[in-house]
Amino acid sequence: MKTIGYAAHSADTPLVAYHFERRNLRPNDVAIEILYSGVCHSDLHTVNGDWGEQPYPLVPGHEIVGRVLEVGPDVTKYKVGQNVAVGCMVDSCQTCDQCHNHEEQYCRNGMTPTYGAPDRITEEITQGGYSKHIVVREEFVLNVPEKLDMKRAAPILCAGITTYSPLRTFGVKEGSRVGVIGLGGLGHMAVQIAVAMGAEVTVISRSTDKEDEAKELGAKGILSSSDEAALEAAASSFDVIIDTVPVKHDLNPYTPLLDVDGTLVIVGQVGPLNEPSAAPLIMGRRRVAGSLIGGIKETQEVLDFCAKHNIHPKCEMIAMEDINKAYKTLEKGDIAHRFVIDMTAFEA
Ligand code: NAP
Ligand code: ZN
Repeated sequence: MKTIGYAAHSADTPLVAYHFERRNLRPNDVAIEILYSGVCHSDLHTVNGDWGEQPYPLVPGHEIVGRVLEVGPDVTKYKVGQNVAVGCMVDSCQTCDQCHNHEEQYCRNGMTPTYGAPDRITEEITQGGYSKHIVVREEFVLNVPEKLDMKRAAPILCAGITTYSPLRTFGVKEGSRVGVIGLGGLGHMAVQIAVAMGAEVTVISRSTDKEDEAKELGAKGILSSSDEAALEAAASSFDVIIDTVPVKHDLNPYTPLLDVDGTLVIVGQVGPLNEPSAAPLIMGRRRVAGSLIGGIKETQEVLDFCAKHNIHPKCEMIAMEDINKAYKTLEKGDIAHRFVIDMTAFEA
């Protein structure tokens, strides 16, 4: 199938229109017309080469919602015309203990990310959601519940699951005290999801500039990480902190904010951090953990959770042609929401 998208051709050139082919349907494949595609900071890291050499040309995008165009003969879960979604993975070995445990993101043989990795059968490089169409095996396609607005659902597929999964894993429940460091794409989903779980949520931001947005999302307030007195006053006051900061940073201002047995979960910077001190960890049996997206079953769960609790990402719709401008804004971390590409307005 012929399609068109926007691709990066190197780490230091802008994304440009790119014509390419999607594979012919295998028996268990679903062909999807992409309607909306979220813009994750991970797209930016990947395109910029922050995470190593990339197989350019590369079409980013792993927050995908659309409509089923065609299904292979063995597909049982999806019908033509159905609203569906695709997240950060399009395949895994399906045989290891992690895959059997519905944690394909930790597949022992390496999951296949939605873009930038060889397909398990043909070794063609996978290409993501900044395009009009995608072909994905049935097991990695999600159902979009009717109660979700398609136009505003895409960021659940990465920002939603990446924050939902650690909030669940680290036991957030009614009355938990949750901190969210960084109010961007991931952060603004973390706040809404934790609030729906019954937690009392505080945003920890570089300043108090995003206070209105934080409160609108349900947070009780904002703590400025540049205000030392405020940080000191907030010592030992969180059970779980989700750290979404996308650059190398210092954990030392944040770990003392955890109560005894509290956990700080890193989901942002994949790579080096400043040297952490063991003292606050030892002195309060505090933990630092990490977390990668979530499994397919859990991704369906977060879509259903958002539908049930009427949670929608805050989406600023952009045209495909505006992607390079959006990346510049994202780099600065100024927006407390998500850019979403309106693929319906993009013509070949
Ligand atoms: P984003 O929309 O750019 O938000 C990041 C937020 O971090 C910003 O809004 C800003 O919040 C804060 N920030 C930005 N630059 C900073 C700096 N220099 N120092 C301190 N804080 C800064 O990014 P995102 O899409 O949420 O993604 C966040 C990170 O998570 C990225 O690194 C991304 O690759 C990663 N990620 C990981 C996973 C996973 O599975 N673990 C999945 C998706 C994304 P304030 O203005 O409030 O400080
Ligand atoms: Zn992402």
